[in-house]
Amino acid sequence: MGLSKTIWANPVEVIRTKQPDHPVLVFAPTVLQATARRFMRGFPGLVTYAVKSNPDEMVVENLVAAGIRGFDVASPAEIAMIRRLAPSAALHYHNPVRGRDEIAFAVKMNVKTWSVDSISELEKLIEMVPTEGCEISVRFKLPVSGAAYNFGAKFGATAELASVLLSRAAAAGFIPSLTFHPGTQCTDPTAWDAYIRAAAEIATNAGVQIARLNVGGGFPNHRTQGPAPMLEDIFELIKRVTREAFGAAQPALVCEPGRGLVGDAFVHVTRVKAVRDGAHVFLNDGVYGGLAELPLIGVIDRVQVISPEGEYRREAGQPRVVFGPTCDSVDRLPGEMALPMDLAEGDFVVFQGMGAYSSATNTRFNGFGQLEVVTALSLDF
Ligand SMILES: *Cc1c(COP(=O)(O)O)cnc(C)c1O
Repeated sequence: MGLSKTIWANPVEVIRTKQPDHPVLVFAPTVLQATARRFMRGFPGLVTYAVKSNPDEMVVENLVAAGIRGFDVASPAEIAMIRRLAPSAALHYHNPVRGRDEIAFAVKMNVKTWSVDSISELEKLIEMVPTEGCEISVRFKLPVSGAAYNFGAKFGATAELASVLLSRAAAAGFIPSLTFHPGTQCTDPTAWDAYIRAAAEIATNAGVQIARLNVGGGFPNHRTQGPAPMLEDIFELIKRVTREAFGAAQPALVCEPGRGLVGDAFVHVTRVKAVRDGAHVFLNDGVYGGLAELPLIGVIDRVQVISPEGEYRREAGQPRVVFGPTCDSVDRLPGEMALPMDLAEGDFVVFQGMGAYSSATNTRFNGFGQLEVVTALSLDF
């Protein structure tokens, strides 16, 4: 990915001027910084950034410039990058399964906050991590829905096990905390309600007063037509329910958004390679590239179709099968996409709200995936 030094006015100007035949992510630092400030103003606690959602250094640097001082990291490479770009930032190593080499590296890099969801991994931390000023955050899960897909499938202890882990971590001399992730693109705020109340119960059952409660990522971004999700409503709910559930023993709150912070700061510009016999639309990017997430969480319908001259295609939508460029038949967007009837070969299909899990998971499979990132002042259409 090459960084263009030009700052474009908006995505349509990028299209009209560059006519890019390769996929382009258009990044607006102003949008990212405004979203970061919105989180910091509205969330009743510490806002950390989940680096995996978009580890582009420009993203990290702009978040630091906006005042973000904590990062959720999951690997030695992420730890090293944040230490380089934000040396004094708090690192929350919230991948609950780590090799011993990874633990040793993180100790050396002064990581002070760790998550855990099993006895075996807790024992490893007790053995290898000095307790001094160190926090262990027990990750638990509930069988609740509301998100685009289920994060509890891989990580998270049951409530019963979480109580055991919490009391063991406290007994070993660590600062005891709890953490959860309600699932990504969680548009139902009541998921947080259930998790926060469960956290209070887990702490009570363990006989431990927790220092902090990390309410995860999962904050939605604006992926579908209609109004953008109201983050402030979720923040208010988190504040109210924490007060109700914990009473006098209220923990400090932490959140670790990825998508909610970075999602709306990028749009993704793809080009129509072909409209095969007037039916199937072939784009120059697909599920092995910047659109990797679509089969997992559903197609984005905040889409603009723009002609090479920069004109909007405005005819009524017609459902189309959309394929990516590789020769793999998996490389197809889910379902059918409503695309304007006057869409033509050479047009640009712009997906909005594409900052998270796009460049991060792009591959060069089959020789495609030459994804470029450019910067713009605005992402408005
Ligand atoms: C991926 C991840 C996040 C970010 O999730 P979003 O849904 O992008 O907000 C936060 N915390 C942990 C532990 C994660 O693995």
